[in-house]
Amino acid sequence: MELSQRDITYCKNVGAKRADILRSELGVSTAMDLLRCYPYKYIDRSRFYRIAELDDEDTYVQIIGEVTEWHTIGIGKAQRLSATFFDGTHQCELVWFQGAKYVKLMRGVKYLLFGKPSRFQHVYNFVHPELTPWDKVTPEMTQGLEPYYNTTEKMKRHGLNSKALRTIIAGLIPDLKAGVPDTIGADILQRYRLMSLTEALVNIHFPKDTPSMQNARARFKFEELFYVQLQILRQMKRREQNPGFAMPTVGSRFHALYKALPFELTGAQKRVIREIHDDLKSGRQMNRLLQGDVGSGKTLVALMCCLLAIDNGYQACIMAPTEILANQHYETLKAFLAPLGDAVHVALLTGSTTAKNRVPVHNGLLNGTINILIGTHALLEESVQWRNLGFVVIDEQHRFGVAQRAKLWTKNQTPPHILVMTATPIPRTLAMTVYGDLQVSVIDELPPGRKPVQTIHYSLQKRAQVYSFLRKQIQDGRQVYVVYPLIKENEKLDLQDLQNGFNELCEAFPEYMISMVHGQMKAADKDLQMQRFAAGETQILVATTVIEVGVNVPNATVMIIQNAERFGLSQLHQLRGRVGRGGDQSYCILMTDLELSKDTRKRMDIMVATNDGFRIAEADLQLRGPGDLEGTMQSGTPFDLHIASLATDGQILTLARQAAMEILDRDPLLEDEYNRIYKRQLDILRISQSYNWGEIS
Ligand code: ADP
Ligand code: MG
Repeated sequence: MELSQRDITYCKNVGAKRADILRSELGVSTAMDLLRCYPYKYIDRSRFYRIAELDDEDTYVQIIGEVTEWHTIGIGKAQRLSATFFDGTHQCELVWFQGAKYVKLMRGVKYLLFGKPSRFQHVYNFVHPELTPWDKVTPEMTQGLEPYYNTTEKMKRHGLNSKALRTIIAGLIPDLKAGVPDTIGADILQRYRLMSLTEALVNIHFPKDTPSMQNARARFKFEELFYVQLQILRQMKRREQNPGFAMPTVGSRFHALYKALPFELTGAQKRVIREIHDDLKSGRQMNRLLQGDVGSGKTLVALMCCLLAIDNGYQACIMAPTEILANQHYETLKAFLAPLGDAVHVALLTGSTTAKNRVPVHNGLLNGTINILIGTHALLEESVQWRNLGFVVIDEQHRFGVAQRAKLWTKNQTPPHILVMTATPIPRTLAMTVYGDLQVSVIDELPPGRKPVQTIHYSLQKRAQVYSFLRKQIQDGRQVYVVYPLIKENEKLDLQDLQNGFNELCEAFPEYMISMVHGQMKAADKDLQMQRFAAGETQILVATTVIEVGVNVPNATVMIIQNAERFGLSQLHQLRGRVGRGGDQSYCILMTDLELSKDTRKRMDIMVATNDGFRIAEADLQLRGPGDLEGTMQSGTPFDLHIASLATDGQILTLARQAAMEILDRDPLLEDEYNRIYKRQLDILRISQSYNWGEIS
């Protein structure tokens, strides 16, 4: 019977009881399921150590020698056995705390000792080592790499430790070697030089050497990423068939704004507008991700594209993650559109729009007099109905969940075109997976005349210096942000810090006006304080990260980040992006404690070294791993990777995506007999995933 059909219960060394545990703890119900539980590490059993070579590292070693002396200490449960092991030149100690009475030692016998040494003063000792008489040592025991498997407490309680798993898996190898059907076609295996499934399974569990182990692992990483890409790209191909509103005309409003702009669009902005316009003309629904570093001018691109839609007779909306941002977009757009007079009607809808003020908005949307609606999640409410919504901009993408994006559809039968804008550049590997089903446009050019922000890292002791620097900037007419961290778990203390900081600044700068903004304030109060700062009525804005994304006050030139060690790299970069928006030299000052962990030090160094958002995003991925990247958790990575890593397997990912693309280019719906294995495998994967790909925008 195929290994994928064989119930784990009936495999050698398993049985009903163990099968139950394997099922509940590891989700293993067939022999193949168990073979798909890969080792998390290997120990090289072909290498023999001398005691003199041991160092403090806690890794497993094996040594050949004799037991020269032993004695038991204590009685009953507390009994332990202590022995001296001699390799011909040096000695070490062996200790058994449990089951001491079962250990039978013999003098004058050659043993293979295997275990993890630890050092106490000058003597190495091994707790609960494996000790095998040399004549019982089989060649397999000292050959190649020995696999180690993840287990749970419950498994261990029932004797299903790593060694037991190894034994069970070893029992499957003879049948495995007879060959199992592959999950990747022969042509791809050959082209990408991948091991067959059979060979890879043998070698991931019992590799004869390190290269075979690495090749086996590479095959499984490829396979995992390949199927992720196949799912994503198939979804993309399917959606490419979706009809979308055709918007061929470049009309009067677009031209009018273009002429009225106080500056020339950058080359990158023009290119991206062209890319989007090509999509709008196509008659298919657009799903596009717009990446661009902070300050690269994404908002204006979004507005120009909204005008393309409006000139073709459609409505547009821009959805922002916070009220502050929605308000700001509203103000920004109105300012840009002022020269156009009555030609474009913009409305605002947020959680704090009163019931009375909602009525004209709802009406205007229905009768089509409102052209652009700007707002927060409030846009998704049932009561918001459109006459003909054709173009949706989602700003600062990662604050929105996938499900929320999907909600936009149900609003029309033909889905609107979707432009997703990210606040922060996304590392390439993440973009290919989390947003792999979106077309990507990149604004890789900042508006001219921007001076790169200078970043300085100070410890708290330098406060006096920082204050005198601030004073000088403010005297020159500039404004300053001071940002404090705030997390839910620590909210009270964090707000206290913010308040203390505010008080301190008020004392230090009695001659200036200071605003304070944080998430706990009423929306109206927040707004008022933001407006005062934006209008230049206050010189210093003390805030929590509510200002993190999107706020635009070009006259602000200094960003002070308190407790910078508590922010992630992407967040620091976002905050820094709030300055350097005008023509003046700007500064970002990172304040931390004097003592820093290695990771924190690295983060500060990267911030000081570069202003390049893409480099920072890459570094963030390396330091924190993909699961942890800010925002990706909220938007949800819709699949678990078991063996591949987005942080380190970028090259394999690129190849896997390419392979998946080649297949789908020839056969978008996987209908060929030849591609049956892929279709079948995707079906299996879909069943095992709770996630519905159909919902991704
Ligand atoms: P992003 O959202 O990409 O971080 P914004 O859209 O907020 O950036 O733009 C930052 C600032 O640059 C805004 O003040 C905007 O008016 C200005 N800006 C946008 N495009 C240009 C351009 N081509 N030339 C000069 N300034 C620009
Ligand atoms: Mg923005």
